[in-house]
Amino acid sequence: MKYIDLHCDALTKVEGVFQVTGDALRKGKCRLQCFAAFVEEREGAFARVRAYAEAFGTLCEREGLVPVRSALLPEGTCALLTVENGAAVEGSLEKLDCLYGLGVRMMTLTWNHVNEIGFPSIIGDRALGHGGLQMRETERGLTKFGRETVERMKELGMVVDVSHGSDKLLFEAADILGQPFVASHSGADAVYRCARNLTDEGIRRIADAGGVIGLDFCAAFLSDDRSAAGQRAAILAHAAHIVNVGGENVLALGSDFDGIPQNSYLRTAADMPRLLADFDGLFGARIAEKIAWKNALRVLGDCLRP
Ligand SMILES: [Zn+2]
Repeated sequence: MKYIDLHCDALTKVEGVFQVTGDALRKGKCRLQCFAAFVEEREGAFARVRAYAEAFGTLCEREGLVPVRSALLPEGTCALLTVENGAAVEGSLEKLDCLYGLGVRMMTLTWNHVNEIGFPSIIGDRALGHGGLQMRETERGLTKFGRETVERMKELGMVVDVSHGSDKLLFEAADILGQPFVASHSGADAVYRCARNLTDEGIRRIADAGGVIGLDFCAAFLSDDRSAAGQRAAILAHAAHIVNVGGENVLALGSDFDGIPQNSYLRTAADMPRLLADFDGLFGARIAEKIAWKNALRVLGDCLRP
């Protein structure tokens, strides 16, 4: 079964064993891989994303991938450029337009720190794991510039990504957009308490808007049990919960490969058929296909210009 992955960090990873390579994607039968230009620091963020956009072209050539800027996918394993952290636009809508011109078609509004656009899901720097429990941001959402950014992204045809954003940021973005948006790499807070995961209310708002949630494979968001069997059970539990709460049209995949320590159950993109077979067993073929690629492609088609 083919699949679409809404988030990985292979583009900005500097060393180590890569979980996403052209070979791994082809082995896994990937149809489309999103590659995030991730910027942590605000200083010089725009210039770094411009450099990553160039590196994306080089990566596609080297790995034998077909770069795309719309939901129309030619033959081969396709690749889409995204941005992780709206700090990349440095508080300027002109810079946002420029990123669109460079081929960026999806952007997380925040990462783990507050930026010009809005507030992250966590308070302070304890991003991962249990630190998130008491550190969840509940009060603050988008700034005035953040609201303008969301409106401009909608006009341009760029997918708004609320992963890493606060609950309030998600709700406010949903109100402004009135159309599908995504949480490209997140899990379910009701299954595993973590500030990076979505509340049931968040899941419903994304589903009501016709959007999708890419399920993240970061063990720290999934379960205390880091064994392969434990991670497998956890991923299926998160998936089942998200489908229960948001329906069969809301779940998609957002591996977070190369941005996370290796997951013992899904080590690389080449392991994806294992997960898709499990989805087939749990949900049946029709829904498994929706999770694997149909839901994600629907949202890309709704948001991006042809
Ligand atoms: Zn991330």
